Amino acid sequence: MKQADIVVINARVLTLDHQGTRCEAVAIAGNEIIFAGDDASAKALRHQDTRVIDAQGGSVLPGFIESHMHIFSGAAELSQLHLTGTKGFSQLAEKVRAYAQSRRDLKLLIAQGADYTILSKEERVTRHHLDRIVPDRPFMMFSPDHHTAWANTAALEQARMLKFRDVGVGAEIVIGEDGLASGELREGGAIDPVRALGGAGRERLGLETGGEPETSPTAEERSADRETIKRGLTHCARHGITSFHNMDGNFYQLELLAEIDSEGGLPVRARIPFHMKNFMPVSALEKAREMHRLYRSERLRSGFVKLFMDGVIDSGTAVMAAGYADPGMKNGEPLFEAEHFSAIATEADRRGLQIAVHAIGDGAVTRVLDGYESARSANGGRDSRHRIEHVEVVLTEDIKRFARLGVVASMQPPHPPGTMGLPLEPTISLIGENRWADSYAWRSLREAGVRLCFGSDWPVSDINPLRGIHAAVTRKAWKQGVPEQRQSLLETLAGYTRDGAWAEFMEGRKGRIAPGLLADVVVLSDEIEAVDPQAIDTLHPVVTICDGRVTYEA
Ligand SMILES: [Zn+2]
Repeated sequence: MKQADIVVINARVLTLDHQGTRCEAVAIAGNEIIFAGDDASAKALRHQDTRVIDAQGGSVLPGFIESHMHIFSGAAELSQLHLTGTKGFSQLAEKVRAYAQSRRDLKLLIAQGADYTILSKEERVTRHHLDRIVPDRPFMMFSPDHHTAWANTAALEQARMLKFRDVGVGAEIVIGEDGLASGELREGGAIDPVRALGGAGRERLGLETGGEPETSPTAEERSADRETIKRGLTHCARHGITSFHNMDGNFYQLELLAEIDSEGGLPVRARIPFHMKNFMPVSALEKAREMHRLYRSERLRSGFVKLFMDGVIDSGTAVMAAGYADPGMKNGEPLFEAEHFSAIATEADRRGLQIAVHAIGDGAVTRVLDGYESARSANGGRDSRHRIEHVEVVLTEDIKRFARLGVVASMQPPHPPGTMGLPLEPTISLIGENRWADSYAWRSLREAGVRLCFGSDWPVSDINPLRGIHAAVTRKAWKQGVPEQRQSLLETLAGYTRDGAWAEFMEGRKGRIAPGLLADVVVLSDEIEAVDPQAIDTLHPVVTICDGRVTYEA
């Protein structure tokens, strides 16, 4: 047998194979795992330069596979102000003023994670509050769900948003008592003009248009963008993540990642889709095929198409089969006509591309399954592993269709209201009590034979998989009598490793700890099976190894 470059000993290794095998040690040579078994045998594989990592009884798992996130926009947000947990005007003012002081260079100051009730339960934020904090420079802050923002007067004036202006369907500039914008902006159409004050927003193109920068970025801009993405990759590695499925994309992101890879190797494996928007003709899929052809290494791949079928529940843009329980909220509109989506699904499937569609309401989920079904009847059954992202509400009859069509449910443990600090309202009232049983229905889907993979949707939620795992294993039903959707620890871990690998056709290369697989491993600070489930979110990675290289050390 080969000699090992790295051995991890004194560990509680969970291999995540289907038999639930556990062992003490792992040995790595080059970028592959060469051994999983007992300490003595692992030690016997050392040579004089072998790095020995003593896990001190901590769990060792396959590196986490984050199945739904946004690397570029997430990375860009890392350098913005974070307001999570901030309460009351004076605390808000203090943080924002300090940030403004430290970032004299910015044309627009941006803060994230401002709770809808950041001032108090009764008082909504207006531009006047924000003017008292930052009077002379444009400032805006986002709600945790990113669907609402509040801007000060300087920002609204510069963006010509103070007076009425058409911002398109589904978006709104909230008007104050004085007939001018109050400062509250709802949805992208209203938010983007202000956001644009901050610069070109290249980090958002993969999400907003799915297209490329209009003018080719200068060498300086490219290098700044690479640095931004690198900070995001470092953020992933520190959280034990060794692979991610990006849920927006364009050639520009692929190029930047390829440049980082050739500079010194990506610290995290990336899969980037072609993002298809509803204004694109079916022939646009040619670009997806080109991405698939050009990027197919084990560290950087494409090969799938991402679409959005609807929006989110809280702003009423999700498509519900029977509308919202709150009569004041009108139903969302599907973003693709049924025939258009079926044509795209059929054509993408025929080209051997995988499809991943954001569908939150049960009405949107139905339309996506219809499209997958028509692709199957046109092209015949194959191992396509098409996915639906979020699936927050699902019709009972569609759960069976998921299983029958082999569709992957890509779910986010941080998302159900009541988990990870999310309030229950307004979401659970909008869904309506009679639909609670089919909401975030992880268990119902799994029991029907559906494969689940887990992710965070970072930067919408905290990327930390240990917080996600904690959320999945401790989830509580919204009331008695509603079926429990909580997951077991092993199911959850599989969702963050093995099943994520399956969802990207890589189960033969990663997602488990076994000889011959890629050396993607995370060492945790404690034994995850031994700690109180309530304390899982206090664990942290101490070492992350990706492709045989240490990418993070505490
Ligand atoms: Zn997303």
